[in-house]
Amino acid sequence: MSVGTLTGLCPECETDLTTPPLVQGETIACPECMLTLRVEDVAEGRLSLQMVEVQLRDWGQ
Ligand SMILES: [Zn+2]
Repeated sequence: MSVGTLTGLCPECETDLTTPPLVQGETIACPECMLTLRVEDVAEGRLSLQMVEVQLRDWGQ
């Protein structure tokens, strides 16, 4: 019954992801497309992931 990992699907590149236990609101980075994904929901070991719009800053100048 113990669930050590969660699984999810990257909404961008559709890579199957296996993650350590996460809770709603946490973010992970997809290892394939490097997008930041936020956990919208966790149900029965499956993650619902949503892309996070990363705000880029202008560095330098
Ligand atoms: Zn991805």
